[in-house]
Amino acid sequence: MLIRGCKEFVYDENETEYLDSRNNVPILGHADDRIVQAVAQQMSLINTNTRYLHPNSTELCKELVAILPKNLKKFFIVNSGSEANDLALRLARFHTGHKNVIAVTQAYHGNTTAVMEVSEHKFRAPHLVKEDWVTIVDNPDCVNGKLTNGHDYVEDLKTAIKENGLDKNLAAFIFESIISVGGGVIPPKGYIASAFKTVREAGGVCIADETQIGLGRTGNWWAFEADDHPDAVPDILVIGKQLGNGFPISLVVATEEIVRSLEQSRIEFFSTFGGSTVSCAAALATVRAIKNDKLVERARDMGFFMMNLLKTELESFIPTTVKDIRGRGMYIAIQYATGDLAKHVYDTLYTDYKILATLDGPLEDVMIFKPPLCWTETSGHRYVAAIRDILTHCPLK
Ligand code: PMP
Repeated sequence: MLIRGCKEFVYDENETEYLDSRNNVPILGHADDRIVQAVAQQMSLINTNTRYLHPNSTELCKELVAILPKNLKKFFIVNSGSEANDLALRLARFHTGHKNVIAVTQAYHGNTTAVMEVSEHKFRAPHLVKEDWVTIVDNPDCVNGKLTNGHDYVEDLKTAIKENGLDKNLAAFIFESIISVGGGVIPPKGYIASAFKTVREAGGVCIADETQIGLGRTGNWWAFEADDHPDAVPDILVIGKQLGNGFPISLVVATEEIVRSLEQSRIEFFSTFGGSTVSCAAALATVRAIKNDKLVERARDMGFFMMNLLKTELESFIPTTVKDIRGRGMYIAIQYATGDLAKHVYDTLYTDYKILATLDGPLEDVMIFKPPLCWTETSGHRYVAAIRDILTHCPLK
């Protein structure tokens, strides 16, 4: 039971302090005062919706335009990542006139009906079956997948398009540049650009779901920038979770051509709470604070520090106990040899070291490090030393 938080620490009902390595949503830190003040002040003045003009929403979009690729400049403001991905699919369908969507294995894109259907992560539940309009291709996993044999995952995508006749009726490819819930899968360099190019050649729209990994966490403003290639720029970008530092707000950013297709359909877009004056105040203050605190640079530098520390301190356990350590910036995946081992480390971090961690991946064998970006070197030493201690005394090794 968590009662309060401060920076990268949280406190339970007995005032016991925990180091938080898992909560990516409060990207600035828990209960950041700038967001508290921005929300309280706006709430005390007025909180309406986007039927009315207010500088908060326009200022927010201006702050983002300054850090987005030039083609992405039309915004829809909604309340959650699920809602944003759902709208992104709808936009792609209006634009192309087609329904078919390609997604990758182990992806999670949210909890509305449409996005659940492109979330292979959820198909493992026996009552969920794949819909006909969904095509699933292997995610580009270089550690557990086929790549070790020189496998080319873009070829899989090309084959799937060809075999399913999707070059005539593809709406979208939805992709997360680090497959987060699927276990922190990092695509090989060049995959995003080539996959997006392939999809565009087939007439589809490329949707980048940066709900978890956007807004600086990976050491770039956007995770797709890892490819450093114009083809890797999506046609629709989804931003969520950390945008309001915990206050609910998400965004769909699309190209002008795509939004024009929606306008031509004459179907109005409206959301009662999406883009409320208060949620825009929270997001505006968050984006300004990320810029002001230079958190993108900090994510890159601290991520580099954490990766080095993990790799040197855990060296004797790699690769027998710790199968792999991978990441970008302050999104790092520590994959253990088994799910039982991962669970042991995760449980013991909590009970004996008062550190909150998280497990992901199909076998729940991957511990994801994605703390608030105010994380310090001191916290880093504490986190890594705890994992090393646990592994040293681990009965499961
Ligand atoms: N996409 C990804 C990659 C996510 O991780 C999540 C949430 N875990 C979502 C979409 C859904 O976002 P929300 O929970 O805000 O609806």
